[in-house]
Amino acid sequence: MSDWEEDNSEGGVAIPTKAAPTEWKLPHNRSQGQDVFSGVINGAKSGASREWRADGNGDGSEYKSRRGRGEFRPFSRSTDRGGSGRPAFGDGKSDSSQAVTFTVENASVGRIIGRGGAKIRELEESTGARIKINSGDSEGEVVLFGPSAAQLKAKEMIEELLADRDFRPRNGPGRGGDYGGGAGGGGVKERSVWSTEELHASAITPAPPSIDWKDIRENKDKYQELKWKDLPPLEKNFYTEAESVSVLTAEEVREWRKENNDIFVDDLKEDGEKRPVPNPCRTFLEAFELYPEIMENIERVGFVKPTPIQSQAWPVSLSGEDVIAIAQTGTGKTLAYLLPGFIHMDGQPVPKAQRGGPGMLVLTPTRELALQIETECSKYRYKGYKSVCIYGGGDRRAQIALVKSGVDIVIATPGRLNDLQMNELINLQPITYLVLDEADRMLDMGFEPQIMKILLDIRPDRQTVMTSATWPAGVRRLAKSYLKNPMMVYVGTLDLAAVNTVQQTVLLVHEDEKKSYVFDFIRNMQPLDKVLVFVGKKLVADDLSSDMCLQGLAVQSLHGDREQCDREEALKDFKDSRVRILVATDLASRGLDVIDITHVFNYDFPRNIEEYVHRVGRTGRAGRSGASITLITRENWRMAPELIHILERAGQDVPEELVLMAERYEKHKREKDEVAPRGGGGGGGGGGYGRREGGGGGGGGWGRRDRGRDQSDNWAF
Ligand code: AMP
Repeated sequence: MSDWEEDNSEGGVAIPTKAAPTEWKLPHNRSQGQDVFSGVINGAKSGASREWRADGNGDGSEYKSRRGRGEFRPFSRSTDRGGSGRPAFGDGKSDSSQAVTFTVENASVGRIIGRGGAKIRELEESTGARIKINSGDSEGEVVLFGPSAAQLKAKEMIEELLADRDFRPRNGPGRGGDYGGGAGGGGVKERSVWSTEELHASAITPAPPSIDWKDIRENKDKYQELKWKDLPPLEKNFYTEAESVSVLTAEEVREWRKENNDIFVDDLKEDGEKRPVPNPCRTFLEAFELYPEIMENIERVGFVKPTPIQSQAWPVSLSGEDVIAIAQTGTGKTLAYLLPGFIHMDGQPVPKAQRGGPGMLVLTPTRELALQIETECSKYRYKGYKSVCIYGGGDRRAQIALVKSGVDIVIATPGRLNDLQMNELINLQPITYLVLDEADRMLDMGFEPQIMKILLDIRPDRQTVMTSATWPAGVRRLAKSYLKNPMMVYVGTLDLAAVNTVQQTVLLVHEDEKKSYVFDFIRNMQPLDKVLVFVGKKLVADDLSSDMCLQGLAVQSLHGDREQCDREEALKDFKDSRVRILVATDLASRGLDVIDITHVFNYDFPRNIEEYVHRVGRTGRAGRSGASITLITRENWRMAPELIHILERAGQDVPEELVLMAERYEKHKREKDEVAPRGGGGGGGGGGYGRREGGGGGGGGWGRRDRGRDQSDNWAF
């Protein structure tokens, strides 16, 4: 990759840089002051030195890049043409000309420069002109040097380039002129050097109409209103509180919530009085007495009692309210939204046969989670409901065929569903029950645009359930936009409780010692041990697993660059114990429901402490105990204070070296803050690792959760 590529934004548009301008030296027979250029794209970043050399006959000059990127044919210029200074284009006689200047929108600058400066070089080479671009705040200035014919050619080519991009109508020889008319136009602007006739000719082409955004917005609202005007009726409330639930006193409810992972419920209704929060259902019967088919399913799968999130989320969602469940995979959250979803679909006034599409949609971030939810869903039989799993990497045709055959529940990743939606292969309008599963992860993975598009086609008066392991600003924003007066059910210390069943060992090592630690561990594995080895990069996953293979170990690897069928096979091999070692990236840190993992080995430390908790929670599941081994290096020192906090709260030993590392980091941070004090808050600092709880500066997962308990702050961004 060239230096320039680093300066290009995703769309390939160069970001103008003002740093380290390259000085363009004069050919020695030129007068100074007129030919000194600075800030030119090529080399501004790389610092590659370039120079002008007078060519032998003094009639032109030669530009050479020391990088050997391109040589330019000599051209000459006159230093003074007198008169107005307005260049005479295309007279064919003059061999040199004054510099010609015109401005372009900043958005077009990158287009002229091209990736790594390739376009500008190409333009220079094919026209013989030299092109310099000065970036301003809102527009860039293009300066053309060289013979007038070359300047003319260069200008034409630049305009063609920009016109192509804008798809603007062109008008034969009169093209050019002011392309900057429309909103956000990216073309050449002002100070046109074209003749009056040419300008006049170009004006014959009607300017594109400017875009009236206000009008569009108003129309969009009107369109939405029209779109949802004749919706069939919708039922939401299917809950009748059982006698045994109604009689609970406030004190009993408080006690019960405290004992069950510190459940916390909050009404996020914004206007008017807050609603009473329903009491929890402590047994399955309390929630589903009126739904014998649900009870039969529960008896069949053999569950004894609801998990905390189920106990509290069921009465809320069965009442028809939107719910935000702050819980992670492994806490029974899938059933927490699935069972009320079944009842909701069955209770709709529009019968299934007339619905014309699915009634329930579960959006989830990864294929693995989608498949897992479908597996969970297919364990329950309710009214013959059929589900389909739609995910990128899966057989698109088969997925479409299933959708067309008529399904009730769609479990999908946002990208693939959006693809089917845009191609009108699925009708989302009948959906009345929507689940946004693992919302924080979906946002982390950049799915917000797809989610927004999908939700445009789902009726706004639907019931929505959102789950998330954390409650950061992005998730709050999503909840505020797409849920109506939700109740939030938050299972406070459940994640830590899960980790309590895991014996956590932390080892301070050097980067180059890691391999010997992991191989040492594997050599000492017992026949029934099963280890999930977490690494930070796909490449490391490949590397490590092939090293293990070479040593004759049965191993699988799981990461985002593997084909979907390979990922599924890897997971199946691990689940079915055909291999007892799985090397994975954080793709497997959440949602992986393999109950007999005995060890988690953190080969690379995770990128944040929440991921650590997720990873460690892959073992010690379903009432079993588990163990984790975490390698931490000096490079991870900023994680040390938070790690200590987690270890302490989970009642684990904290190695002395980790404490020293955390102290060194805190000291370093204090010193850094003293040199460059940050704005706001600050104060105090230093010492203890429990700062987050102490209500100090925000950030980070745990602090946010604690903050979530401050009712007034729940919607705060
Ligand atoms: P989830 O958090 O939805 O991924 O669920 C994790 C595992 O817990 C799944 O294998 C579920 O089948 C199981 N599960 C769900 N609810 C219960 C329950 N009430 N009791 C025992 N296991 C449950």
